[in-house]
Amino acid sequence: MASFEEKLQEYAQLLVEVGINLQPGQVLNLRSDVDCAPLARLCAEAAYALGAKDVVLEWRDDALTRLRYLHADDSVFDQVYPWEQVRCDHLADLNAPYLVIIGSDPEALAGVDPERISRVNKSRYPAVKRYSDAQMASRLQWCIGAYATPAWARKVFPDASQAESVDRLWDAIFNAVRVAGDGQAAQRWQDHIGEQKRVVDILNRYQFVSLHYQNALGTDFTVGLPQGHYWAGGAEPCKTIPGLEFVANMPTEEVFTLPHRDKAEGRVYAAMPLALHGNLIQNFYLDFQGGRIVDVHAEVGEEYLRQAIAIDEGACHLGEVALVPFHSPIRDTGILFYETLFDENAACHLAFGEAYPCLEGADGKSKEELLTLGVNDSITHVDFMVGTADLSITGKTADGREVPVFINGDFAF
Ligand code: ZN
Ligand code: ZN
Repeated sequence: MASFEEKLQEYAQLLVEVGINLQPGQVLNLRSDVDCAPLARLCAEAAYALGAKDVVLEWRDDALTRLRYLHADDSVFDQVYPWEQVRCDHLADLNAPYLVIIGSDPEALAGVDPERISRVNKSRYPAVKRYSDAQMASRLQWCIGAYATPAWARKVFPDASQAESVDRLWDAIFNAVRVAGDGQAAQRWQDHIGEQKRVVDILNRYQFVSLHYQNALGTDFTVGLPQGHYWAGGAEPCKTIPGLEFVANMPTEEVFTLPHRDKAEGRVYAAMPLALHGNLIQNFYLDFQGGRIVDVHAEVGEEYLRQAIAIDEGACHLGEVALVPFHSPIRDTGILFYETLFDENAACHLAFGEAYPCLEGADGKSKEELLTLGVNDSITHVDFMVGTADLSITGKTADGREVPVFINGDFAF
């Protein structure tokens, strides 16, 4: 049995070598919660060993973020300090790869005025836009990994002791990222990525014009896919370095594309609760007409859902369609992680808000041009899970053929 230290070391190596696929001479932008410092340090070490020119740090701290939301002067929520923009623009100029280590307390911001959170997101957006656009468009490598912090573990395993809950969360994380501490994790990822590619190739050959979702919860929903869309999953090419692939999420089980922002009809039910800035939204559905969310209902937390889809014009249109088999290593754990990086890999999901421009010819087009092609634009991107054990998805081809894509929650091919 490998020790915890061996596994953590292997995860760090995996994040930098396979996730980011760091190249000699690159400046790695590393963002981490302070509680995740041990993994951040191992990642920096791995990056330098691979020839990183530099590793620049951006520390986050849930407790301080919370204090600021509660006690800072109200005016600061509409402003952004000029150095934030300078920093982000410089990172964008460098195409600096972006490694994010998360381990947030899912309840860190519970009870904070959601309007303040919206205002901060809105005011930060122009400052971070160039770097964030480069990330969304895969012009730079990026990857998100996770660290089992005590606060997160307590939320996931409320009945276990503190030490036990952290151990169990680590077991779940290592299992989900295929890390066993045996030095074989990179190989297991190559195999996994290969299987993702197989499915992506099939979906890309069909070029479906729409997908129709149905299940016993009451979902009866059709989403249109824009002409020229492509599916991605596993590893994706970095647009600025020919031949280089990176893995944006570790774990990842999804294959995804973008929906047409004006083409969604019907009702879709959430299959799992949605944790949004520390607030839980439960048992909800969304109604769509002409691509817009025209109504929502939630048994718990409806006001947070309404707030989230009203943050800007694009927030009530879809920006992602992702397929995940019901039988995946993450879903099989039966754990609700209260963290999108994991929960989105447990089930088929949709996201409202910003779209990844998975569209042929999207490179170099302006946001306005992309909008007319159906690519949604928003300052938000919120994934919500819709996959159930009985979900069926039927694809429709341009010549009107209907092809089963999902049968009983899993891929039909
Ligand atoms: Zn996704
Ligand atoms: Zn997403």
